[in-house]
Amino acid sequence: MCPPPTIRAHTRVRPYLMTIDDKVRKTLAELGVTDAKGVESLFAEVRAAMEKERQELVSKGVASEAERDKLCKALRDRWLARKNGLISFLDENWLKKAAKEIKPVVGRQFNELRRSAANMEEKTLARELPLRRDDRAARISWAAFQVPTAPTVGASVPSDLTLPGYRRPLGSIHPITRVQREIEDIFLGLGFAIETGPEVETVYYNFDALNIPETHPARDDWDTLYVDSDTVLRTHTSPVQIRSMEKYGAPLYVIIPGKCYRHDNPDSSHSPMFHQIEGLAIDTDITFADLKGTLDFFAKKFFGEKVRTRFSPTFFPFTEPSGEVSISCVICDGKGCRTCKETGWLEVMGCGMVHPEVLRYGGIDPAKYSGWAFGLGIERYAMMKYDIHDIQLFYQSDVRFLEQF
Ligand SMILES: [Zn+2]
Repeated sequence: MCPPPTIRAHTRVRPYLMTIDDKVRKTLAELGVTDAKGVESLFAEVRAAMEKERQELVSKGVASEAERDKLCKALRDRWLARKNGLISFLDENWLKKAAKEIKPVVGRQFNELRRSAANMEEKTLARELPLRRDDRAARISWAAFQVPTAPTVGASVPSDLTLPGYRRPLGSIHPITRVQREIEDIFLGLGFAIETGPEVETVYYNFDALNIPETHPARDDWDTLYVDSDTVLRTHTSPVQIRSMEKYGAPLYVIIPGKCYRHDNPDSSHSPMFHQIEGLAIDTDITFADLKGTLDFFAKKFFGEKVRTRFSPTFFPFTEPSGEVSISCVICDGKGCRTCKETGWLEVMGCGMVHPEVLRYGGIDPAKYSGWAFGLGIERYAMMKYDIHDIQLFYQSDVRFLEQF
């Protein structure tokens, strides 16, 4: 801001060559203003000058907070200071010395001007004044501290750089996936490979090739969820047994994890979608003893060395003979409790020697090869392992439940 030039009163200067600083030091009469129109145009000139000074300051910006404070104060004082502020000269020279006829209009204009000048009050001005950040070093250092994940809208300066950053909660592995991987690991260690297949399956692979012809009563247990008359949401992972036999032939050692679908109403132990793992071993000279030995080893690995296994006969169309595997109750160690319904045993999977018809469907000669298979529900294992009593909890995506694993 240039200091106002000092012009002595006697200097003859034409009004249009005078600055605002000169004019406020003269009376209206000296300026040749004698009517309302003249007063209004003179005040308009003052307001324009004031606005121009304000605009100049805002457009230039300031390099620091200290400079901002200094410049704001200077502009304010220039106009509003009680002593030697331009407004105080206006009051003294224009308003107080105004001729009677024009005094009311001068008073109105003066009050209006003083109100606009009050808008240049330091705080208001400081808000408008941008911090100039053309300094290269400053720009680099600020850029390094910008927090990309949570920008503060409208703020040019990051607030508190010592605050901790934004941390997203880490997820955990779903209990079903966790148990599935644990079971997979045990069989991978025994030399089995993991094989998967389509969840939308043909009726041929899901039923016919597994020795469940259309008229077989066993279809009733699973005969649900058709996409069309030839396509079904697979009711078990067993179709992949046939697909694997076709793909690899014998000998064959695979486990087959995946989703299955049945027309079950959801309750605490049923869900229309659930997970299975099947195992299939085909080789020469495979006997029921291999089946028993492998599954006993698996049960001890998964549930603990103290666990005993029990095999009891049952029926499946795709195995012959077929069996159910039970383990000694992991809660009461076989003494009998509510979980094992006082029997001391928990049924954990189905198994059996692969039916010769099924081998034939898979393109394997049952005269040369034999095999065993098992199937288990992953949900049931997870429920036993973590003492969960409602299968629905696995599918509700409730973080309070899931974060416990
Ligand atoms: Zn028990």
